[in-house]
Amino acid sequence: MGCGSSTAATNKSLESKKLVMIIGGGYCGVKLAKTLDTKANVLLVEKKDHFFHCIGSLRGAVQPDFAASCVVPYSNLLTHGTVLQATVQEVQERLAIMSDGRKMPFDVCVCATGFSGGSAFWSGNDAAITGDEKLEKLKEVHDGVTAAKTVLIIGGGAVGIEMAGELLDASGCEAKITLITSGDKLMNLPGVQAKLQDKLADQLTKRGVELIFGERVESGIDMTNGGMHPASTVYTSSGKTISADVVFVATGPKPVLPEKHPFKLNDQGRILVEKTLQCSGTASQFFALGDCAATGDVLNAYHGAAQAAHLAKNIVKFCENGPSATLAPYKGTGVAFIVPIGKKGGAGQLPIGVVGSTITSAAKGKGLFADQFWKDMGFKEGRKGAESGVLRTSSRDSMGSGRLQKRMSAILDVDEKTLLEEYGSLD
Ligand SMILES: Cc1cc2nc3c(=O)[nH]c(=O)nc-3n(C[C@H](O)[C@H](O)[C@H](O)COP(=O)(O)OP(=O)(O)OC[C@H]3O[C@@H](n4cnc5c(N)ncnc54)[C@H](O)[C@@H]3O)c2cc1C
Repeated sequence: MGCGSSTAATNKSLESKKLVMIIGGGYCGVKLAKTLDTKANVLLVEKKDHFFHCIGSLRGAVQPDFAASCVVPYSNLLTHGTVLQATVQEVQERLAIMSDGRKMPFDVCVCATGFSGGSAFWSGNDAAITGDEKLEKLKEVHDGVTAAKTVLIIGGGAVGIEMAGELLDASGCEAKITLITSGDKLMNLPGVQAKLQDKLADQLTKRGVELIFGERVESGIDMTNGGMHPASTVYTSSGKTISADVVFVATGPKPVLPEKHPFKLNDQGRILVEKTLQCSGTASQFFALGDCAATGDVLNAYHGAAQAAHLAKNIVKFCENGPSATLAPYKGTGVAFIVPIGKKGGAGQLPIGVVGSTITSAAKGKGLFADQFWKDMGFKEGRKGAESGVLRTSSRDSMGSGRLQKRMSAILDVDEKTLLEEYGSLD
């Protein structure tokens, strides 16, 4: 059987399946959508016209030739489902309303809207809707750091540390780097081993980065505005004054959610979820994962991918058996980090223990998973596959054959003609 006929057979078999709307095409949404592509009618709604590989973005910001690796089209992601470029403004019980007024119904809705805030500049959730805008922003950082004599990084988590490492490696950047953190150690998070914290601090110090521990920046800069700031003088909790030509705010991520939604939130604004990853206190067709959800995992793409793999199985069961389905509890994933300091340095905490720069470089530092993500996004040859004329746009109609429209009319219990009149077409 040829590839075309097997695609047609899968399309046919999907005609009777449920419509799963995933809001947010970041690491979690993409992984979930791809896993469910042959098992449900997937509608991935994403506000940007590109997947932003923020894991690679710190290198993209200081090395212009790497920047394009961080902006990946959605065009090859799904074979059967649809990627719709739209911003979900309101989530109702069976319907999502987009900011442009379009309404999309669903059988199952998954919120994967991610994070912003402290490191907004590098997240999928900043204001850069098009890939070109994102590349322009990365270039602004490059121009800023190559002109700077001093750089201050606020934040001692993975983003702050990796930013320092990329600056150390960047050709044309000669700036003296200072990193300030309110913690007593770098990577000051529950479950992180002292050995990892010390290895990272030693390597940065040896390469000339000044580390300031236990100091909070109190004024002089808008700490709610993440990313790169121009020349500033900041004032710390102990009365220190630090001036730098460029300042990066790289403090903790904050969840992002649609403007109106039925979700219950914890005190940090994350969606409360049950162990099944169903949203707490809502109708049973709502699920959430990743940085917008209080799953108990460390907030990173690695843990988000484990949640997506688990959730995909639960959603298949839910689609087959409805609210009475027995769903498996997500048990969490052990704390794991790989924190490169440039291409060759850094350290990691893996299930096998704390590893040094050789493993860190081979596993992540060399390429920052960019090629792998291009492959995961459907470009078999990595980024090379996109350079032969693939457009940087979403595939809006890959469900073809009106399958999505049919499912929508079944959910809303209206005929397809009325559906088109009242809700408009997806094309
Ligand atoms: C610089 C940097 C480096 C990092 N490095 C690593 C690393 O090496 N390893 C690692 O595991 N993690 C890393 N992380 C963390 C990782 O990026 C996040 O944990 C991960 O992105 C969370 O994935 P997510 O899918 O939950 O959310 P996101 O990746 O934030 O994706 C959310 C998506 O939802 C979309 N969206 C939001 N609201 C709406 C809406 N209303 N309608 C439609 N679309 C919407 C956004 O546009 C976005 O694309 C890094 C983070 C940063 C900032």
